[in-house]
Amino acid sequence: GSTLEIKDLHVEIEGKEILKGVNLTIKGGETHAVMGPNGTGKSTLSSAIMGHPKYEVTKGSILLDGEDVLEMEVDERAKAGLFLAMQYPSEISGVTNSDFLRSSINARREEGDEIGLMQFIKDMDKNMDTLDIDQSMSTRYLNEGFSGGEKKRNEILQLMMIKPAIAILDEIDSGLDIDALKVVSKGINQLREERKDGFGVLMITHYQRLLNYIQPDNVHVMMQGRVVKSGGPELAERLEAEGYDWLKQELGIED
Ligand code: ADP
Ligand code: MG
Ligand code: MG
Repeated sequence: GSTLEIKDLHVEIEGKEILKGVNLTIKGGETHAVMGPNGTGKSTLSSAIMGHPKYEVTKGSILLDGEDVLEMEVDERAKAGLFLAMQYPSEISGVTNSDFLRSSINARREEGDEIGLMQFIKDMDKNMDTLDIDQSMSTRYLNEGFSGGEKKRNEILQLMMIKPAIAILDEIDSGLDIDALKVVSKGINQLREERKDGFGVLMITHYQRLLNYIQPDNVHVMMQGRVVKSGGPELAERLEAEGYDWLKQELGIED
């Protein structure tokens, strides 16, 4: 498995500091949950890891197996094994879902080792089946006209097919009804079991609910641009039961 190391990460958006020294290490085979109130920088963290141009890293480092991620272009980060399931997946007209998937898979492979068409179709059918995705979605343009739930399932389809080293799932549970949540969790859990190489998951979520379906090894709380507390699944349970106030008090954080 791979290791993603985030050290003292500071990130600005349009001159405003959003991340103020984030430290986090995710190893292959581990599932980490990052929780925290809205606006604390969770999505900023995922965008910075993936290299979104709007997010300027002013200090700190991100290493994937010791390689400097911040020196990599966006496509190089994906090729190196980083994957982000976005909170708000974008629609791309003119590119079909299956074309996008196939080129994403092949982008991670060496020349001459591209996935064969038959193997690709077989894998895609199987994974779409697991995720209860309608066959017609493979030939539709990427996310165009997809419902919120279909977009989220489609992000997990990408995850299952691209097989990244480290997957970041940003609010994959938001806008999902309980049935869709179960299906999406099933896909992620299946992948966690199947992947003998052990892939790492960074799961960003506002609600504890998701963690009933995908059990994290570690739980981190982000507030005001920092990871302020880390623990096991019991930390998420306490947040669900008591909210964030006790933690704010413990840390002396004002709203
Ligand atoms: P979270 O995901 O924890 O809800 P975000 O990372 O989305 O938080 O946002 C953190 C802060 O950064 C918020 O104050 C938000 O308004 C600001 N922010 C996020 N993205 C942008 C952007 N593209 N342009 C300007 N401000 C942004
Ligand atoms: Mg938010
Ligand atoms: Mg967010």
